[in-house]
Amino acid sequence: MNRRNGISLLDVVILILIVGVIAALVIPNTRMKKAEEAKIRCQEQQMAINEAMVRYFTTAGDTMLLKVKVETAEVDSSDSTGSEEEVATEEAEGDTMPPIRMFTEDTTLLRPYLPAEYSFTCPLDGDAYIIIARDSSFYSISCPNDGHGQIIKGRPTWEE
Ligand SMILES: [Zn+2]
Repeated sequence: MNRRNGISLLDVVILILIVGVIAALVIPNTRMKKAEEAKIRCQEQQMAINEAMVRYFTTAGDTMLLKVKVETAEVDSSDSTGSEEEVATEEAEGDTMPPIRMFTEDTTLLRPYLPAEYSFTCPLDGDAYIIIARDSSFYSISCPNDGHGQIIKGRPTWEE
């Protein structure tokens, strides 16, 4: 084989090996970078859902109180023994009641408070977040993906 006359088989083998080594280094790196970006985006999204939860909590209370009042009034008016005086009393009591503020697990209730660019699924693989709400005392937003963390009562686990 005359090296001067072109590329030898050895050259080709070396070239393939070099390309292989570069690919082996670059591909997992890109994959890791993408996973890292998805994680950052996921945590941003969890923060946005957290804000939506707080906004829902601070505004929906009055709506719930209104609903309770309307239901009471309806029950009273359909009752044959009920009088208008009783309805008025119920409403007066309702006014003095503090608004019932609650967290919610229902994403359709949270959706109006969440900016359109965010969703309730992890950007890495589309897995749905696990949202847990206990009346007005507790809520958490969790990503099922390893290391993506969760927000418990407004506190992100990745900031501890
Ligand atoms: Zn996630």
